[in-house]
Amino acid sequence: MSNEFVTPSSKDWLLVEDAFDKDAAAKFETLFTLANGYAGLRGSAEVTPDLGDAGYFVAGVFGNTGGFGHEIVNLPTWAGVSGNMDGFDYDLHKGAVLAYRRTLDMRQGLLFTSIDYRDGAKHTTRWESARLVHKTRKHLALLWGRVTPLDFSGRLTVSQAIDAHSVKYASSSHRSHWGELRPLDLGEAGIAMDLTLAKTGIRVVELSQLRVAGAQKRSVTLDDDRVRESFVCDMKQGQPVTWEKRFACVTSRDAADPLAAAREELASTGKKTIVALCKEHTKAWEKVWDVSDVVIEGDARAQQAIRFNTFHLASLAAPEDEHVSIGAKGLHGTGYRGCVFWDTETYMVPFFTFTDPASARALLMYRYHLLPDAIENARASGLAGARIPWNATLTAREGMGFGWQDHQTGDLAYAVDQYITATGDREFYLGRQGPAGAFAAPGAEMIIETARFWATRGEYDESGRYNIRRICGPDEIHGGINNNTYTNYLAAWNLRRAVTAMSDARSAGVADQLAAKLHVTDEEVARWAKIADDMVLPYSEQRGFHEQFEGFFQLAEPVIDPHRTQNEYTGPVLHSYRPTQGAKQADTVLMYYLWPHAFDDKTRRTAYKYYEPRCTHCSSLSRGAHAVLAAQIGLTGEAYRLWLRGAELDYGEFAECDSGIHAASLGGAWQGVIMGFAGFTIRDGLPSFTPHLPAKWKSLRFTVRWGKTLLDVSATPKQVTVRPRKGSVQAYVDGEMKKLSAK
Ligand code: BGC
Repeated sequence: MSNEFVTPSSKDWLLVEDAFDKDAAAKFETLFTLANGYAGLRGSAEVTPDLGDAGYFVAGVFGNTGGFGHEIVNLPTWAGVSGNMDGFDYDLHKGAVLAYRRTLDMRQGLLFTSIDYRDGAKHTTRWESARLVHKTRKHLALLWGRVTPLDFSGRLTVSQAIDAHSVKYASSSHRSHWGELRPLDLGEAGIAMDLTLAKTGIRVVELSQLRVAGAQKRSVTLDDDRVRESFVCDMKQGQPVTWEKRFACVTSRDAADPLAAAREELASTGKKTIVALCKEHTKAWEKVWDVSDVVIEGDARAQQAIRFNTFHLASLAAPEDEHVSIGAKGLHGTGYRGCVFWDTETYMVPFFTFTDPASARALLMYRYHLLPDAIENARASGLAGARIPWNATLTAREGMGFGWQDHQTGDLAYAVDQYITATGDREFYLGRQGPAGAFAAPGAEMIIETARFWATRGEYDESGRYNIRRICGPDEIHGGINNNTYTNYLAAWNLRRAVTAMSDARSAGVADQLAAKLHVTDEEVARWAKIADDMVLPYSEQRGFHEQFEGFFQLAEPVIDPHRTQNEYTGPVLHSYRPTQGAKQADTVLMYYLWPHAFDDKTRRTAYKYYEPRCTHCSSLSRGAHAVLAAQIGLTGEAYRLWLRGAELDYGEFAECDSGIHAASLGGAWQGVIMGFAGFTIRDGLPSFTPHLPAKWKSLRFTVRWGKTLLDVSATPKQVTVRPRKGSVQAYVDGEMKKLSAK
């Protein structure tokens, strides 16, 4: 048993909650969620887990609601550790909280708690703990701590429970997903809940072992849907009683016998001390930060913001599982039912592509494995190729939305292309040539099937132009419109990219295999190129930039109140913008950002200046994208204002994050710094850096992965240096092409 605590990191790595406020419980649960891509544990105070909305989610563990399709299941609450001092509960609902501090240590991936509490007997007890969700042993989570009676001696009971009762209706739809439930007392091995989800049949085992130093008696209560274990011991004034809790979760997605596997997990880690396991965990985080830390000198607020966003995004990396992706609210809450949106490909994948390509690949492979579903979606609507649904879960056959939004189909191709260019992962792109096994070229197949969709989604008009009608771009206020510039440009790009994929396949000697598998003919490839050339792109000669969609410029001017919060905007208020030029989020602006070298600076600048004031920014996907474009065109002050508001979205003044983190916004904040302020783009297939630092920033340092090496980038207001960690690389630095080498 360990009485040792790990030392917290320095201030610039911490996010602190230093006052007890019941009303803010759900918000801090989201902010203090610890996740490792496999699972996410909301940061409920373990002494009173029902203060907010306790939650524990495992990626891919979905239930089926029937009517609303699949949703991520809030699994039985297990992280509570409660204290009872001489008959009085350590219960934050009552009693007096004299001191309260919880600290998220983002460098080490730890959450620390320290509370002084006065109970009904006027006794004061200090509760200190630390917890982690292990970064490499993905099934494992640990909590450990000490309880110190500050002004009395007496009896202490420390208990834990695994509780399927309190979360029975706590998933998004408020429906119960429990099929079979088996609470278990495993004696020395702890307590467990072995459950099967009613409709999806996924089996989940949660196993928890609590040890309390000096415990004299153990007792267990078994109910139909919960199990509780308690230990009683003596405590002496001023002397801490230590406890530790080891938890494992295994599901039938991971092992044939999840109960045996969970027992094995705890049995094998049981040989190691908590401190040793914690060291493994913090070392793994050290490795993450070695590649993904962004260091900003001269602006402590921005420094904290970028670390917060990077931390939560990196917490969601799951390179080991190609069958899950990241939901719009991460593994941090029930919001959006745990569904995967375009948020992942456009906002999150770039972070992984450039810092952790194995995780990016797994996210793209998730879409690849669901490609047959997407092909079926297209077929069901009388179209060819693959139609990516608006949101996806275990399946890509639900969540077709209103059928207006289709840009997610091209967004996938964009993410695939960026991944291929940055990593040079040829096997993913063009597959492996060889006799054994079926031929699979995930990258090329996704690019081609998405292109095929566009080749049937639109129609030719009499003048020989190709139109995409009844569509909705990223700006959801305007649905059912014709020829959305963002979508049409993306579709044309996607079609041309598919032509390139076929010629790359030819050069790699796999064209025949690819064509045979997908039944692609030369005529079809020629048709893709023609449609791309014929695509309508609404453009105003007079204004010198693109129109968001046909007829947009004729709409009335909106009146936007910048003081409204995002929540206030939802519903009727937002709807009232429909007949105006008010946009919900970046749309045409996103196009100018994502293809920085396809448009000249003047066009991008005039377009930005037109569209930004007409945007409500009431989607969390908006500010980051605007900030990138603003920074790239040199409007650094404005970029900074937008970026900071977006980067602090979940913990700043206007935070609305009770139901989970805004995962796209995390990626948007990262892109705001890297693609925006550092001006990192891909130019002619090479990395390019043209920084525009905010006035306060003395320097900016970060790393991006390029091919087989890492590039360390360091920028000051005067200059930028880029250094590969090994080998040599060609790159554009401040507009000049250079050959850079490690030495
Ligand atoms: C945004 C979409 C986004 C979804 C999930 C909506 O409010 O407008 O673009 O995909 O939220 O984050």
